[in-house]
Amino acid sequence: MLVDVLQRRVKDLRISVTDRCNLRCTYCMPLEIYTWINREEILSYEEITRLARLFVRLGVEKIRITGGEALVRRDLHQLVAGISALAGLRDLCLTTNGVLLAQQAPLLAAAGLKRINVSVDTLDPATFRRMTGRDNLSQVLDGLLAARRCGLLPIKINAVIIRGVNDKEILPMVDFARHHGFAIRFIEFMDVGNVNQWHSDKLVSKREILQIIHARYPLREIGREEHGAPAIGYGFEDGRGEVGVIASVTEPFCAGCTRLRLTADGKLVTCLFSASGHDVKSLLRGGASDEEILAFIRSVWQARADRYSEERHAALSSGKDYRSADRTKIEMIRLGG
Ligand code: SAM
Ligand code: SF4
Ligand code: SF4
Repeated sequence: MLVDVLQRRVKDLRISVTDRCNLRCTYCMPLEIYTWINREEILSYEEITRLARLFVRLGVEKIRITGGEALVRRDLHQLVAGISALAGLRDLCLTTNGVLLAQQAPLLAAAGLKRINVSVDTLDPATFRRMTGRDNLSQVLDGLLAARRCGLLPIKINAVIIRGVNDKEILPMVDFARHHGFAIRFIEFMDVGNVNQWHSDKLVSKREILQIIHARYPLREIGREEHGAPAIGYGFEDGRGEVGVIASVTEPFCAGCTRLRLTADGKLVTCLFSASGHDVKSLLRGGASDEEILAFIRSVWQARADRYSEERHAALSSGKDYRSADRTKIEMIRLGG
């Protein structure tokens, strides 16, 4: 069995298909001008599918397609068709901001996509503009309903909560999710990348989020879907659905982290907070055999000792002034969450 230095298996692969995006979320990529990856550096769908097949041979059970915004890449359903046909893959999911989902949901479902995560941080158009720099809230909501019509279930909404920006949106979002039968997961604001001006003061902790929801809709803990899963689930006592919280800052879960990331330009990244990746594209394009590529992936995973969120938690808990900016990281828009 393939394990890293901390005895963690590789089980989940997140594939970023592009670093481009049609939104400019303040917490992820607020810059209008950014040095985008050159087109010829981007892996083709054939290259991605070949790698995906090799990852499945190494024990990967779940693949998430992400970005940037995956739906801005042309004919994404063709990639979905290739990956969903891989024998041995247990779960294939897409994470999207939903802007282009209404048009593409039927094609994605027909290509074999089973479920979808949609990022929606607010139901208020003005707050949406403030958080994303764009006015696309109505398209996102249309996208959610289209995904449901196409049977992309369960639909999970992801909402990043930032103090003073959308913390008043927690209950309206819960009401919305309950009304429409969507699962919803609140995400603690993280210090990913280098440009989102993260500070611990802007963080709304899991504890606070749950207190707000519990006061209106009593909750009971369900726990993580599986060991190392990012979200801790809570069911509503009245039986009308569930809510999850991803508490990577206040309750880090590195010990069970089985996630590996592939960037759009063919780098393997072993942690969301890594400074750099490992170039697998050169092997692919240099004519390497499957066995050579497998050996490379194995060596990357076996050397992995990342536990950034646990280190951050220890630093924040020690009361010292923790400065995320002291460490250079890959931007989230390249990594895909
Ligand atoms: N564009 C797609 C989307 O927004 O869903 C996929 C890529 S996005 C980088 C993946 C996930 O990362 C989204 O759910 C987004 O909310 C989350 N994310 C981005 N920056 C974050 C931050 N600073 N803290 C917490 N989550 C973040
Ligand atoms: Fe927002 Fe996702 Fe685009 Fe980042 S990649 S700016 S989270 S929509
Ligand atoms: Fe995994 Fe890195 Fe996140 Fe820890 S900080 S859970 S090692 S991606």
